[in-house]
Amino acid sequence: MTAVLRLWPLLTATHRYDKSISTRGRGQGERIEAPILAYLIETTQGRILFDVGCDYQKLADPALRAKWYDPAEFPMGPPQMSEEQRLPAHFARLGLTPADIDLVFLSHLHFDHAGGLCDVCGCDVHVHEAELAAAHEPADDAYFADDFAGDYRWKPQRDEYDLVPGVRAINTPGHTAGHMSLLIELPQGRPVILAGDAADLTENLEDEIAPGLCWRDREDLALASIRKLKATAAETDAELWPNHDMAFWRTLRRFPEYHA
Ligand SMILES: [Zn+2]
Repeated sequence: MTAVLRLWPLLTATHRYDKSISTRGRGQGERIEAPILAYLIETTQGRILFDVGCDYQKLADPALRAKWYDPAEFPMGPPQMSEEQRLPAHFARLGLTPADIDLVFLSHLHFDHAGGLCDVCGCDVHVHEAELAAAHEPADDAYFADDFAGDYRWKPQRDEYDLVPGVRAINTPGHTAGHMSLLIELPQGRPVILAGDAADLTENLEDEIAPGLCWRDREDLALASIRKLKATAAETDAELWPNHDMAFWRTLRRFPEYHA
């Protein structure tokens, strides 16, 4: 019996970038606009947040923006993020505050997935132990050391596990060293798999195309994870949600509407 009650996709920012960042070896010179998402999962055993978006201050404060999004060092460029897209603003529309979040689950620690940790205080933060290690190296330029330097209650994970009944972590390395996806059993509708950046676009799933950025160029790992997610979706009759696909995102319930 699932503990899940509701699932809200939260649009925390948008980002324009070269499509080859999402589809390895494909779409060079083509610009796409991608949503940067978090997902709030309400369960009978507390509220879980999947990813936390970007750090708003690094975008809004000119000095921080110049430091972290220096075009010479970060050619992908800064996302577009408004005050109303910050997590606390989403929570407020539901009558909640950051203190009402019980657990943060991070698919990985890139800037557009872990930057908003500073806006969610106090709760346990689940991430794969290999991801923490890769972020601290750092293994690539999309890790912003400052994002995960705070005094957070890290709960490093290794094996696949149930966060609560009906919410299962799935190891999907490839895009990063310790990437994880999440299988969510809804109370009424079909299960949902949040692919995270194991699949940015529907195209990554349909055509089995790896993300542009692969940990240590391990395209094989990324492709194995895409196939694993597809197999899991087939076994569980789950919908498989790509993470940075604007056209797909537009088919989802618009906040504060939710999936149940
Ligand atoms: Zn990423």
